[in-house]
Amino acid sequence: MKQYDATDDFDRQHLWHPYSSITAPLPVYKVRRAHGVFIELENGQRLIDGMSSWWCTIHGYNHPVLNEAVKTQVNKMSHVMFGGLTHEPAIALGKTLLDITAAPLNKIFYADSGSVAVEAALKMALQYWVAKKRFNKTNFATIRSGYHGDTWNAMSVCDPQTGMHRIFGNALPIRYFAPAPQIGFDEEWNASDIAPLAKLIRTHKDELAGLILEPIVQGAGGMRFYHPEYLRQAAQLCKENDILLLCDEIATGFGRTGKLFAYEHATVTPDILCIGKALTGGYMTLSAVMTTSAVAETISQGTPGTFMHGPTFMANPLACAVAQASIKLLLSTDWKAKVRSIETQLKRALAPAIDFPQVEHVRVLGAIAVIEMKHPVDMASIQQRFVAEGVWIRPFGKLVYIMPPFIISKQELHRLTQALLKIVKEIE
Ligand SMILES: *Cc1c(COP(=O)(O)O)cnc(C)c1O
Repeated sequence: MKQYDATDDFDRQHLWHPYSSITAPLPVYKVRRAHGVFIELENGQRLIDGMSSWWCTIHGYNHPVLNEAVKTQVNKMSHVMFGGLTHEPAIALGKTLLDITAAPLNKIFYADSGSVAVEAALKMALQYWVAKKRFNKTNFATIRSGYHGDTWNAMSVCDPQTGMHRIFGNALPIRYFAPAPQIGFDEEWNASDIAPLAKLIRTHKDELAGLILEPIVQGAGGMRFYHPEYLRQAAQLCKENDILLLCDEIATGFGRTGKLFAYEHATVTPDILCIGKALTGGYMTLSAVMTTSAVAETISQGTPGTFMHGPTFMANPLACAVAQASIKLLLSTDWKAKVRSIETQLKRALAPAIDFPQVEHVRVLGAIAVIEMKHPVDMASIQQRFVAEGVWIRPFGKLVYIMPPFIISKQELHRLTQALLKIVKEIE
């Protein structure tokens, strides 16, 4: 096992990392470069990336096509304000987004991160009902085990247990939570699964602006895969009860679940769609909120008649250019076959884990695999063991999971799953 100084002093003393303490930080590993499926550490050790840098790097790191898109664009302009100006990268990406999403989604609002997209989506839903003079429809329903980001209103619709409600408590708006769906993606559907959500929606429909959820795959709130029928019926309930359906595809978009967008598993059409993360292939931060003409035009015909959001870096040309290149690159490959082959290999390779006494559940969907442990794991020590095995896997709570870049080879995926099995088996 290689020993190395995992952190710089400066980093330890001055830099905040995600969800971390400044006085007792967990170790961090310094990266000097990344290429393809490999993250290369300062000491020269190469790790096979099992995380796609949190769902983003679907084409791997340092991809020549994406590099070229950034270089070409940077020589023209890195940024101009989007107020009063427009540019080809925003227009070209917009056309591509219309082509790949459900037909009714044809208005696009660019934002700068996933959380901000969620904020904008919630505001859109609210402004829609204000424009319709339904002034009581100001609240939101969601399902437990969800994750929608770290900004204020995004936090308020995250799972109240695994999210940050305990810390921010009264400061957060109170939302309506239905239990998380219980029937898994592949399991036999049972109508009782949707009953609590149906009841909640029928009871509170007059105060509800929208239902927000992650379609099919709940990410950071629990890594759960639920039944497409649940989503289909949830969409139906929204329609019947005059509630907008907000789909947060920030994690699931761009092929990760085996469909380009996870809502396709249930053939529903959201009224408002949030995308981000893999949108730029992981090159930089960009998100988008897409909606229907009905929603956009209603907002625009109401008072004040404008949608009240406008980030400084809205439609950043560099980000739009690389997003366009990333989507074109994805569509130019047989990504469906690739994701299916990753799925098949993951299912086969991880099947033995279900017999480990410390494992509660194993699940795979598309290019996502989750081993749910019976007890929470110690992140710092398990992380170190994964690094020693030459892989980058970052568990949280009871969840040890991977979602590798789509470009991963069979051998690299084999090394990743072997390391995963080995370390999970060693956990007490
Ligand atoms: C990551 C994520 C977000 C937040 O995106 P950021 O870019 O981190 O702000 C929102 N929703 C889902 C489903 C996510 O996975």
